[in-house]
Amino acid sequence: MIPATTFAGKRVSLFGLGGSGIATALALKAGGADVLAWDDNPDSVAKAASQGIATADLREAGWSGFSSFVLSPGVPLTHPKPHWTVDLAHQAGVEIIGDVELFVRERAKQSPDAPFIAITGTNGKSTTTALIAHVLKSAGRDTQMGGNIGRAVMTLDPPAPERHYVVECSSYQIDLAPSLDPTAGILLNLTPDHLDRHGSMEHYAAIKERLVAGSRTAIVGVDDDWCAKIADRLERAGSDVVRISKRRALADGYFADGANLMEAAGGRVSRVASLDSIGSLRGQHNAQNALAALAACLKVGLSAAEIQSGLQSFPGLAHRMEQVGRKGHVLFINDSKATNADAAAPALSSFERIYWIAGGLAKEGGIEPLRDYFPRIAKAYLIGEAAPAFAATLGEAAPYEIAGTLAAAVEHAAADAARETGSEAAVLLSPACASFDQFKNFEVRGEAFRQAANAIEGVEPIGGN
Ligand code: ADP
Repeated sequence: MIPATTFAGKRVSLFGLGGSGIATALALKAGGADVLAWDDNPDSVAKAASQGIATADLREAGWSGFSSFVLSPGVPLTHPKPHWTVDLAHQAGVEIIGDVELFVRERAKQSPDAPFIAITGTNGKSTTTALIAHVLKSAGRDTQMGGNIGRAVMTLDPPAPERHYVVECSSYQIDLAPSLDPTAGILLNLTPDHLDRHGSMEHYAAIKERLVAGSRTAIVGVDDDWCAKIADRLERAGSDVVRISKRRALADGYFADGANLMEAAGGRVSRVASLDSIGSLRGQHNAQNALAALAACLKVGLSAAEIQSGLQSFPGLAHRMEQVGRKGHVLFINDSKATNADAAAPALSSFERIYWIAGGLAKEGGIEPLRDYFPRIAKAYLIGEAAPAFAATLGEAAPYEIAGTLAAAVEHAAADAARETGSEAAVLLSPACASFDQFKNFEVRGEAFRQAANAIEGVEPIGGN
């Protein structure tokens, strides 16, 4: 745990007592703050109280006595409308911050030179964060990973000069971290997402921009217009900007050329690393993630050889285009995290011959946005409530069957793929649907896929994270 000593002797109010809220309250207490916490859920309040955290309804608290208000990132700060605690804090002129801000202040006080890599973007945050932490660890660096992935940031080990922090930041966390000052900040990409919580694309992009604006080095994916403009703006303002592109050669920066990760600097282009035959980093989207990792790791002093070796051994994240088994030329891929069409597109674009398991609880638009990939579908196996609608969309464009359940879909897809000969075939669960009609969540659905795939005779399991 990181005791939040910059709050010693101060009175701090806190709202939102989920896992990270409780961890934050405990970190504040350990640092010597006088914390008063609350949540709308009585069970959460009781849980916090049982861990020695002082709780009280913040409607009745004396706000003028608080020096800071710590808000859980899940609670609305601005949209659709500010939470009632936010109104009370504003009225009392109390600053509103989140756990990442506590971390940033503690690092600034204890160990300002501790390498700190912060990652944001609409897609690929978790993959990039996990990849960077993995590469640093494999190079023998003391590495702490957390934030919006894995452990809440204040549960990490305290800052020390050679300790590297790799922290995934959601927009909500950035919005609550005004002093965010990473050594290297990464903005991967920007597409419309969560606009219900941000009001407009402009507002959403402006929040994301803050992470790179505060960075000593700003690493920006310039494949979308929003991010390209941000990179230009930061450069004009005098920032150290490193551009990355997954799809075009850059005059200055890092870009992908097929599986090669290239560096362009001072008119010279050279190959720094390669993703060739790294199964966990297939696809153009992963080239973007790997380029960001490459740029960040070079910034903190890793060699190209150390980075290549780390990329090579990256196991990938569970449920995101995760290779779970192989039988001869048939690869079993778990992409259960793809709960809508946009999220399924990267997997469908990464394989040529696909036995596609799709369906569940459909999102608006169904699989219509995936039409361009239908020629790659050797056959689709449709499950859950969405099956009839998906069948109608596929129509004549790709063969399909209504398999109903995931177990039947895996069995049939594996048998059909095994009958094929020739180049690689993928039995791919990339459902483009929520899971709740048949499973508790996407993780349980992905696990069920892994088990069903590995139960097939002759399948050799891969990984197991
Ligand atoms: P996040 O943490 O931002 O939600 P993840 O790393 O968990 O992102 O990846 C979630 C899904 O997003 C992946 O399964 C993949 O389909 C897609 N994805 C991953 N990286 C990228 C990227 N750089 N660009 C676009 N889509 C991506």
